[in-house]
Amino acid sequence: MFEYAPAPESRDIVDIRPSYGLFINGEWVEPQGEERHKTVNPATEEVLAEVAWAGEADVDRAVQAAAKAFPVWSAMPGAERAKYLFRIARIIQERARELAVLETLDNGKPIRESRDVDLPLVAAHFFYYAGWADKLSYAGFGPDPRPLGVAGQVIPWNFPLLMLAWKIAPALACGNTVVLKPAETTPLTALAFAEICRQADLPPGVVNIVTGAGGTGAALVNHPGVDKVAFTGSTEVGRLIARSLAGTRKKLTLELGGKAANIVFEDAPLDQAVEGIVNGIFFNQGHVCCAGSRLLVQESVAADLLEALKRRLGTLRLGDPLDKNTDIGAINSAEQLAKIRELSEAGEAEGAERWSPACSIPDRGYWFPPTLFTGVAQSHRIAREEIFGPVLSVLTFRTPAEAVEKANNTPYGLSAGVWTEKGSRMLWMASRLRAGVVWSNTFNRFDPTSPFGGYKESGYGREGGRHGLEAYLAV
Ligand code: NDP
Repeated sequence: MFEYAPAPESRDIVDIRPSYGLFINGEWVEPQGEERHKTVNPATEEVLAEVAWAGEADVDRAVQAAAKAFPVWSAMPGAERAKYLFRIARIIQERARELAVLETLDNGKPIRESRDVDLPLVAAHFFYYAGWADKLSYAGFGPDPRPLGVAGQVIPWNFPLLMLAWKIAPALACGNTVVLKPAETTPLTALAFAEICRQADLPPGVVNIVTGAGGTGAALVNHPGVDKVAFTGSTEVGRLIARSLAGTRKKLTLELGGKAANIVFEDAPLDQAVEGIVNGIFFNQGHVCCAGSRLLVQESVAADLLEALKRRLGTLRLGDPLDKNTDIGAINSAEQLAKIRELSEAGEAEGAERWSPACSIPDRGYWFPPTLFTGVAQSHRIAREEIFGPVLSVLTFRTPAEAVEKANNTPYGLSAGVWTEKGSRMLWMASRLRAGVVWSNTFNRFDPTSPFGGYKESGYGREGGRHGLEAYLAV
């Protein structure tokens, strides 16, 4: 195979301040406490900036700002709110390159993904929900659907700006105001978004951004002034939040973990399926809640498929996330790397066979090579637990019924993929798979018009599409 010359994207386009405050009521304010934390580039361990750590008093201030802005924002005609959302979408497009570089620096994902997937989807979400703002009466939720009030939103680190867009765009379109907490390890694009709100002249208090860690998130979701909680993250924390909100008047949506099956039948186009498997689990280093982390392949084609898959994995390039040729970037944090290592070691200890292509790992930063496990039993931890890293567990099946049985044998139910040339089989499978999203001959496809969400321990509520409005309306 030939070598690629390095093609790094310039980072000069981003201007990272040494230190950030909180964005409350349209202004940058200092937190009441002294505590701050550093956000690092996971590919180099270089400190990028210091970020404020919001305590309960700061969260209270942000919720009050959002509550004060609510009567004005919610009373504004939908067509006027839409103008702000369209303006935000246009500014995101104009600043897309800068935001993509910033996301890659703070998160570790390849620039090709932040530039070609995350950022276009972020803008598309704002455009899409801008279009709904003046049509809520026709959305199927009654003639005059009302917003809920203040939305407290907590998001994870795997798609920082995209998760912000999934949360903020529908909330604002419906007339709610927002307090959002980004993840501790990836706050920078949310802070850049605060600047975009100012650039768009969004009225003060409509969007507030509070940075911090789990405690800040807990203070936000438990604040009595919050009317709606939207959370994306681990099932463990989702469970905690559901417990603490039970019996309150707050409306809750949870988008949690997954352990998706990517199912390949013998009649599938195998080369295409290999690309779909790679995209399913190695996209974003496998830090994807709907990642196709369990490959179920029909026994008759398992050997051929695995050979082709291994050949393809040998061509993936791991390294500098800012390089436009990079396929696999850095793992987002030392903690996540430790978790991936621990589960991979458990896979070996339980008897599965581990394989990775030859690939050199940079000296600094957090890295994990693309890995696959064969000989995996359904009882193995690597077949049951979310690894949230570039690790694929391979299982086989003989009949469609067995494929359904194995695919559904998980506490999760977020997504699944089916590869077959037969439409009838596809529909047969889709109607039996207990997953919120079933992809057909593709994987990890997202679109703002399409609802996304889970069953079972993957959470409840839908984001995206017309369904995504429901979470932010009193219906
Ligand atoms: P968490 O669920 O801990 O974090 C998600 C968000 O919730 C973060 O903003 C976090 O803050 C915040 N948070 C943490 N504790 C609380 C709390 N008690 N109340 C309110 N908010 C809280 O996920 P992690 O980042 O720790 O990742 C752990 C695992 O979760 C991963 O390995 C993966 O398996 C899964 N995960 C699933 C995701 C999905 O999309 N479904 C996304 C991310 C993770 P902070 O980051 O500051 O701690």
